[in-house]
Amino acid sequence: AKNQRRGFAILYSPEHERRIRSERAVEAALQLADLEAEMEVHLQPIACIATESLKAVEALARWTSPHLGRVGPDVFIPSAERAGMIHRLTLTLLGKALACLDQLPPDIRLSFNLSAHDITNRETVLSIMSLVRRSKIVPSRLIVELTETAVLRDFEAAEASVRLLHSLGIQIALDDFGTGQSSLSYLRQLPIDKVKIDRSFMAGAKDGKGREILSAIIAFCESMRMQCVAEGVETVTQLRFLKAVGCNDFQGYLLAKPMPLGDLLVWIEDHNQS
Ligand code: C2E
Ligand code: CA
Ligand code: CA
Ligand code: CA
Repeated sequence: AKNQRRGFAILYSPEHERRIRSERAVEAALQLADLEAEMEVHLQPIACIATESLKAVEALARWTSPHLGRVGPDVFIPSAERAGMIHRLTLTLLGKALACLDQLPPDIRLSFNLSAHDITNRETVLSIMSLVRRSKIVPSRLIVELTETAVLRDFEAAEASVRLLHSLGIQIALDDFGTGQSSLSYLRQLPIDKVKIDRSFMAGAKDGKGREILSAIIAFCESMRMQCVAEGVETVTQLRFLKAVGCNDFQGYLLAKPMPLGDLLVWIEDHNQS
């Protein structure tokens, strides 16, 4: 009886109530949204650790709702999935991201996040491919980022999508590596070019154990012939350590925060001069 009471309290807590209500509010605002006008992509630089030269940018979705103000992608991406709008949202964002890519030097790639729904939806994957074809961008300049959780949710569908995208020349990156319930066996079955090491490992690299885990992951990627990108690098100490253990690329506030295309173009000029 005690447990039941506790369960009741958790289920109907004001906090839970507020969360549900705000989820509904986000879904409602999304349904009314003019995606083309309200959505933006910001771009965050990714650089080579050895040379510090810019290699790619990650496109990160930004939404300013006239009803709710700024809402973060951690909130509105899951809402769009629940509201059945992720297909349309993903294609809107990809269109904007490809337009940015077109403005960047030809040796710079763009990394784009796909949700679990996107990767298991054949229609979405086919639309992505035709958008890329129509954009006339060299497909190998595009990297799609997938999380392990997304891949493992419906492995067969994800595998088919990954193979299709890869056959076009698009690169595949595994996002948030090490945070899901990894089963490493699937890695052999997929054509994965890059692994993005989740930023929780960077935060954990303060002590000996954390550093050992990080260097083991990097050695593993090397043996699997996958490039590794460290996410969430915030300090020079972290960067030095990553360099010592042979990580390829890095991304994080130490290098730059995500920014609009105009700011990025200025950042690239400054970065090339220094
Ligand atoms: P993610 O793909 O893991 O993206 C990295 C997140 O870490 C971004 O948050 C970025 O702003 C943040 N970040 C980058 N460097 C640092 C750092 O040095 N320190 C810290 N503390 N954070 C850093 P953001 O932009 O809020 O995006 C959150 C998540 O939303 C993303 O995580 C991704 O899962 C999702 N997301 C963003 N844009 C899209 C999109 O266009 N499509 C989909 N499906 N998901 C997206
Ligand atoms: Ca990502
Ligand atoms: Ca990530
Ligand atoms: Ca993440």
